[in-house]
Amino acid sequence: MTNRILVTRSSLPLKEEYIAEIADIWDSHWLTNMGVKHQKLQQALQQYFGVEQVELFTNGHMALELSLQALNLQGEVITTPFTFASTTHAIVRNGLIPVFCDINPVDYTMDTEKLEALITDRTCAIMPVHVYGHVCNVEKIEQIAKKYGLKVIYDAAHTFGVTYKGKSTAAFGDVSCFSFHATKVFHTIEGGAACFKDSELGRRLYQLKNFGIRDSEHVDGVGANAKMNEFCAAMGLCNLRHLDMEMAKRKAVVEQYRKLLSGVDGLQLSPIQQDVVPNYAYFPVLFEARDFGATRNEVFEALAKAGISARKYFYPLTNTFDCFHNAYDVEETPVALHVSKNILTLPLYADLPLEDVKQICDIVLSCRK
Ligand SMILES: *Cc1c(COP(=O)(O)O)cnc(C)c1O
Repeated sequence: MTNRILVTRSSLPLKEEYIAEIADIWDSHWLTNMGVKHQKLQQALQQYFGVEQVELFTNGHMALELSLQALNLQGEVITTPFTFASTTHAIVRNGLIPVFCDINPVDYTMDTEKLEALITDRTCAIMPVHVYGHVCNVEKIEQIAKKYGLKVIYDAAHTFGVTYKGKSTAAFGDVSCFSFHATKVFHTIEGGAACFKDSELGRRLYQLKNFGIRDSEHVDGVGANAKMNEFCAAMGLCNLRHLDMEMAKRKAVVEQYRKLLSGVDGLQLSPIQQDVVPNYAYFPVLFEARDFGATRNEVFEALAKAGISARKYFYPLTNTFDCFHNAYDVEETPVALHVSKNILTLPLYADLPLEDVKQICDIVLSCRK
């Protein structure tokens, strides 16, 4: 059966707008390798984020992976398992050892009360995730990182457009990495960015995304190929113009969900965080089966039967992936384990009709026994 309502649907600019944006690529024949569109998007994002340095990549994963490489890290990186595969893989693919910190049960970001106990003399960095667009406890993380001399690399893939105390999440940590994948609030089809302050780090990142090449006769690093091409950058330039509308439409969907699902026993909605301007990226709902009267999986199945795809996001936890062959003890992150077994993200995208939201909520609530 094909699903009638998908969990997400990529926003697109008008076809004519995109065609106009890419027209001059035919004049220049410059398709990739940091061309005009790449530079324009880079500058536009520096301005939008209010940060000094932005480096663009083929995707968010390469931003994370190459940021870790550029920082020359060795040893253990403290992170959380309640995230997309990318976060943990970026650590492991750098030959670093992930150490999993539990999440807090309120906003599902790293539980900073449990962070310090995990620091050893092998710890080199902290890699927290602003999961669902919820901002981590950035102040506490900064304080701990300073105390122990650790680098902080934020997985900010979910927080495009989010600010905390008036500052973009791009401004926190040594590096803050975004994903511009088609499913994200802002996209370049595939794409990503690393945001940071240190211009020396910028030089290394610029080289690492282009094979480590310094100039035509010198190669300084064992780099990758992770350059954003001109067509993707052009999509970003278009989508950036419509970002406010994108977020406003998402906001209306989220408000409808909140209206229909607030105050239901056993059903936990995302907190409204203080000092945070949200981007309405996701609508996660945690089901406490005993109080709600149905399990997450039962709700998932009921929605699927009606042609509605919700997503068990994030399940399974990354520290239980088959590829890690039981290397990590999932019992050490009990809150993350509980949340991953009981959470469901409901369909959310800019053009999701409010009647569909009503229908989704009716089905969710009808699962109660
Ligand atoms: C999307 C995402 C990534 C990876 O981004 P890509 O652009 O798909 O490579 C990393 N971390 C999180 C939390 C994500 O949601």
